[in-house]
This record gives sequence, C-alpha cells and structure tokens, in this order.
Amino acid sequence: PEVPQLAELDASRLEVNLTTSPRPVPGIGSPEMASQKTCTDHMITATWTAESGWGAPQLKPYGPFSLMPTSSVLHYATECFEGMKLYRGYDGKLRLFRPNLNCNRMLMSTNRIALPAFPPTELQKLIMALCAQDGAKWLPKDRPGHFLYIRPTMIGTDSALGVQRPTEAMLFILLTCFAPMDDIPGGMRLLASQDDMIRAWPGGFGYAKVGANYGPSLVAQGEARRLGYHQILWLFGEECVVTEAGASNFFVVWRTREGALQLVTADLKERIVLDGVTRRSVLEFAREKLTQGYKGLEKVEVVERRFVMQEVVEAAEEGRLVEAFGAGTAWFIAPVGHVHFRGRDFEVPMVEGECGRYTKVVKEALRGVMYGEKGYEGHEWGVVV
Ligand code: PMP
Repeated sequence: PEVPQLAELDASRLEVNLTTSPRPVPGIGSPEMASQKTCTDHMITATWTAESGWGAPQLKPYGPFSLMPTSSVLHYATECFEGMKLYRGYDGKLRLFRPNLNCNRMLMSTNRIALPAFPPTELQKLIMALCAQDGAKWLPKDRPGHFLYIRPTMIGTDSALGVQRPTEAMLFILLTCFAPMDDIPGGMRLLASQDDMIRAWPGGFGYAKVGANYGPSLVAQGEARRLGYHQILWLFGEECVVTEAGASNFFVVWRTREGALQLVTADLKERIVLDGVTRRSVLEFAREKLTQGYKGLEKVEVVERRFVMQEVVEAAEEGRLVEAFGAGTAWFIAPVGHVHFRGRDFEVPMVEGECGRYTKVVKEALRGVMYGEKGYEGHEWGVVV
C-alpha cells in the first residue's frame, strides 16, 4: 500500500488575511511599550496533524486562539519556542540577526519535546513574511536602534488527554513591542543558585528551548529579584559548575595564574547549557578579532570549557577577574558587576562603573551588525527583511 505523503511546512502556501482594525503603535516610553503585552497587528499560525502533516500557514489578525482544555501543551508542557529580534537599522533597513541559527535550534527543540519537524528554511521565510508585513509600521524608520521581539512557538494541541506524543500541533509566530534596553548602572547583580534550584542536568533538556526549562526557574528568579539581584547565576552539581546567567549565556574575562588573559564560557558538551546565538557570535567574533589584538587591547585566549565557581572566586580574590557579562538576545551583552555566592559578595571590576573593555568591543561589533551601523552594513550575519 502507498504510504501517504505528509505535507511539509511550506511558506509559499501562506494565506494572507489582513486586519480590518489596525491598532496604534505605542509611543516611545509609553506604558504600553513597557508592558511587553502589545503585539503587532498580525501573527502567523500553521497547524499540523500526524495524518496529513502541515496545513497552509495563515497570516492573520493578532488575537486569541481557542484550544481544548485537554490540549497536550496545557498538561504535559509540549511546547518550545525561540526568541529573536527585528532590528531597525541606522541605515533605514530592517534586519534579523543570524535567523537560520534560531530556526535550526527550534527544530532541535521540537525534536526534544515530541513536536513535529519542519524545514528550518520555511520557518525563516514565515518569520520574514510577518516581519515584512508589520515591520514598517511597528518599527518606523524614525526609530533606528529600536527593535521588535519575535516569538516563534510550537505547542501540542492534541485533545486526547492520554500521556503520549501529540498527534496535533500548532506553530505560531508573533511580534511584540519592547522598550529599548539601557545598561543597568553598575552592571547586573547575579545571585548564584543554591543546590535545591538546578536549571539543567546531564541527560535532561537544558540545551533545548522548551518552556519546561523556564517555568520552574521562576521561583529562584523571583527570590533573586526580591533580594535585589537581577538574575540567577545557574550553577550545577557539588562542584558548582558555572553554566548560565538567567536566560543568557555567561562569560568571564580573567587572567590565569600563569598570566594569560582569557575569555571563558561554559562548553556545550554536557548539554546543560543553551547553544545561544549571541554566545556563538561572541565566540566567533572573539576568535577572529580578540585573539589577534583588537583596537589596542591585549590579546585574549578564547576558551570554552567546564569551569567552576571556585575558579571565579579565586580569580576575584586574587585580583585576576577582569570582566564578566551575560550574552543573549533579550538582554544582549549585559555587563555583570556583582556576584553573590554562598553568603559572600564579589565585585567584578568595571571601567568607569559601566562596562569592561572587552565587553564593550564585543557589544559594539554585534550591535553594529544588528543595526547596520557604518562599516557593518553588508555583514553576512545581518539578514535584511
Ligand atoms: N540561555 C538560555 C537559558 C536562554 O533562554 C537564552 C535565550 N534564548 C540564552 C541562553 C541566550 O541565547 P540567544 O543568544 O540565542 O538568545
């Protein structure tokens, strides 16, 4: 018997139904902008069933959708997502930053959480279509240096309550308004996690961008905020392996006892760290430029390895800790000024209370690509919409 051909996700089948009640764009500094609840006029959805594969994607007015209360996602967290930004460049263009990496990672996450596969290039085309539809209005040309946040998501919509792989799923993509992010004066304050709050563990799913990684982290995050910290520095195991900071990767610049200057971040081998697009970009940029001596800075070695809190503590105590920063789409390159670990506080040196020198050059280079700044307009990491 013939095996029925399942339909692939296909962006060329996009059906467009534009809103008849367009909404106003929030002003800069308005409460609507700050609320992170204001989405643009449209969203894209696509549904999948195990029987027939992907249906034609729909671009339609942004708004609520209906799900059966028995839907898989609501009970078993069959969900994964991505986080990206649409940037309004200083050259007037709209850009995505390395969107292929997010689309590949989304596929990896869907595989981990029993959701259907799709060609990542088709997801990228759908993201580009939504950005092309709403970008010009919601990210006007007179707002260079601003961005919209892009949230591609997939959920299991199977309405059979049994615990099983979903046989129905929905992909959706939305764009939401975000206030521009300023540096935190004095840098981010991190609270190192305690043994009873582990974000990820070997054999788990910390490497995937599944919602199930985030909900359970909010108790620790809430406690950190209550105590005056911005994020949790996620440690793992008895040795206190340093993994990530909040929802971003974590980097330190330190000098070894032997005198070498190093840029260090956790490796991905144990699969307890997310393979961040920003992380990867920092590493690639640093390997290309900072190892050679860049803009008069001393050369650094770029190191991806398992490292533990004790090494950070010793570097701080011995005056060898040079800089630290978080790296992720949401908070971008965020200088870290302070770490609290087991009842003790450590200050991270910062130039003029703002940002370390290496943090600064990394940030400027990536920002340059994102916002099409002079000298970076044609960079291959910036994908013009
Ligand atoms: N780690 C975690 C746990 C995250 O949620 C994110 C945000 N996606 C990152 C790191 C940073 O990844 P990216 O640079 O791709 O945003």
